[in-house]
Parts: sequence; C-alpha cells; structure tokens
Amino acid sequence: MRKKLFAGNWKMNLNHLGTRALIQEIRAILDPVARVLAATCDVLVAPPFVLLYAAAQALAGSDILLGAQNMHHEDSGAYTGEVSALMLKPLGVRYVILGHSERRKLFGESDELINQKVKSALKHRLNPIVCVGETEPERRAGRTLEVVLGQLEAALMGIEPAQLGTITVAYEPVWAIGTGINATPEQAQEMHGSIRYTLENRYGKEAASATRILYGGSVNPDNIEALLAKPDIDGALVGGASLKADSFCKIDKAGLN
Ligand code: PEP
Repeated sequence: MRKKLFAGNWKMNLNHLGTRALIQEIRAILDPVARVLAATCDVLVAPPFVLLYAAAQALAGSDILLGAQNMHHEDSGAYTGEVSALMLKPLGVRYVILGHSERRKLFGESDELINQKVKSALKHRLNPIVCVGETEPERRAGRTLEVVLGQLEAALMGIEPAQLGTITVAYEPVWAIGTGINATPEQAQEMHGSIRYTLENRYGKEAASATRILYGGSVNPDNIEALLAKPDIDGALVGGASLKADSFCKIDKAGLN
C-alpha cells in the first residue's frame, strides 16, 4: 500500500518568527497523533530557502519532513541567487518541489531544465516532487492529456526504473491553483490514472504502483476526503491551506481514514 503524502508549499510567505510559530502550532496538533499518522501518511512542509534552517530547528524530534520549493541543478558555482542540493541536504531537507507551474510560468523554467533538476536531486538523494498540469486554455482545447503527459515524460527523461521509487508526481491543474476552484475528484482521478498508466508502460507495473501521485490545486479540509477516496490520489500538495495549522492538519488527518 502506498503511504499518503501531504506537502505544504508555503511559497513566498512568512519569516523566521512566523515559521517557528506555524510549526509549533502544527506540532501541537500532529505530535499527539504522530505514531498513528505515520502508519498511513507522511507530512511535509516546504518553506522558502531562507527559512529552512529555522524550520529544521523547529521540527527537531518530530516526524514532519522538510522540503524545499526549488533548487539549481548544478552543485556549486557562479549562479548568483541560486541554491543547490548540496546546501539543502545538510539542513535536513528530504524533498524538493520541482517544476511548479509558478516556476514554469513566472521564471521561464523549461521541461529540459526541470529534467536536469530532477537528475541532480536524485544524484544527491533528495526526493523530487515533480509538478505537472495544464492551463485552462489547454484544457478547453482538449489538450490536457498531451500537455500533462508531455511534461511528465520530459521531466523523467533518462530516469531509470529503480530511481522512480523516490520520485513523487504532483498533478496540479494550473486553473485550480490558488483559485478556490479545485478539480473534481473525477477529473483528478482521470489524470492520475493516466499518469500511472504512462509510468507503468515506461517503468513497469511494480514501479508505477509504488509511485505516489499527489493532487494539488485549492485543496482544503472540505474537499480532501472526496479526493482521497479515488484510487490513484495518494495525497496532496497544498498551497494556501498549508499556511494555517488548523486547515493543514485537518487535511493531513484525512489521511488517517
Ligand atoms: C500550489 O501552489 O502548489 C497549490 C496547490 O496552491 P493552492 O493549494 O493554494 O491552490
């Protein structure tokens, strides 16, 4: 059985004080149920780079995992303003979100660049969360499958079946991110099923059925249960609702059912 994963993408929010406070609030709710939660789910927070150290300190002794929102694909060098896997690992970062639609759209990240980042993360034993998703015009034009599976194939180019186990895929329809309009569980399942089918064709049944596929896009405590009821939805990548301990923990606890 796949363990569920609930990942909070904090985006460019909070400072070190807010980071400590939010993690303390999350721990006050989740620590008492940590053992039972850990049997079925992983919980992850992904603060901005500069807050990772404060977050790591606040998470000491907890089961909650630490993730980054991005990274550069080179190990070091003349890349002003960038951060590499070698800097993330010693802070206790275990996961890295790659190819988020905001990175693709606002920072011009190409499929090729995302593939380089995935390879670098794997080289350094960081678990990539690879984001894929179509825009509203692409969906209206009937191009959803082509776009999403194209992004998936490109991001995983050159990845071996044995490496797939450490990769998580996040299906995030761009029209659902931060809009309050989530994909219906049926729409999400259709895409998750297609993603798993594609992984199966490429990497075999065993590797594909072990891969976690998260849904992201306006997830909240009211819609998470219906999403998780679908067979190929293995958790959520949560933006806005991850900034409030109460809503993030309600979403995480839905993984107990
Ligand atoms: C995201 O940015 O990955 C996301 C899913 O955001 P939100 O939950 O706010 O839609």
